[in-house]
Amino acid sequence: MTDPDADRKVADRKVADRKVADRKVADRKVADRKIVLDVRNLTKTYISGDRPLTVLDDVSFAIEAGSANAIVGPSGSGKTTLLGLCAGLDQASKGKVVLAGTPLDELDEDARARLRNEHVGFVFQTFQLVPTLSAVENVAVPLELRGERGAMRRAAELLERVGLSDRLHHYPTQLSGGEQQRVGIARAFINRPKILFADEPTGSLDGQTGGAIEDLLFEINAEAGTTLIVVTHDLELATRTGRVIRLRDGRIVDDGSNVKIT
Ligand code: ADP
Ligand code: MG
Repeated sequence: MTDPDADRKVADRKVADRKVADRKVADRKVADRKIVLDVRNLTKTYISGDRPLTVLDDVSFAIEAGSANAIVGPSGSGKTTLLGLCAGLDQASKGKVVLAGTPLDELDEDARARLRNEHVGFVFQTFQLVPTLSAVENVAVPLELRGERGAMRRAAELLERVGLSDRLHHYPTQLSGGEQQRVGIARAFINRPKILFADEPTGSLDGQTGGAIEDLLFEINAEAGTTLIVVTHDLELATRTGRVIRLRDGRIVDDGSNVKIT
């Protein structure tokens, strides 16, 4: 006599075991390719009024260490939301972000801030410099937060690298837009991040200034061997990366290497 209940339990356990085994194989594959950012089934829903608004819908991708990647898509397609979730600045409604081997949802806010400080650089469209700090002080902030010695010296070196050695003690209001973004880039690299996120870094600059900033971002990124994820409207900038992820209405509609953009 067979016990159908026991048979079903055995079958269920086999399915569960297989799922665990599959997950382990998938995790090993990810590790083999040195994945620095793994995004799985990421969903973000805001409650607006009394209705839910899903601005990211089941987004999955993995980013290889040292690669340069672009995220493109129309305004409102969820690009900034996605970067914020990947960098641990915001929390997902569903799904998972594994950054530098650490699942972000398992960390509290303090631990996420420490992980960001250690591994992440961020360049914002609107620079986001602290108005009461000079250029060199702005750049030094991430290292000073860590209590590292020599922060001001390294900040001065980086400002020299971005062509601002004669602007160290200027305040943000005394700098042009392009100069402010150079400070932003220097600050983003000061903690020697594993991964650098740039959200429309040239979006507030005129074409010529923006072009020079793009060149600088790619140059320093290549020198440092940092993984780059740049959000951009600028299709020329996107084609300078090895991979373009295209978003529309919160979903990935294209994800390809060296895709032709028309
Ligand atoms: P993108 O950077 O591609 O322009 P965003 O990620 O900034 O897009 O925004 C995606 C959508 O999410 C937009 O429709 C925006 O209105 C909405 N959104 C962003 N932040 C919030 C929020 N805090 N509350 C409600 N809706 C938001
Ligand atoms: Mg945006």
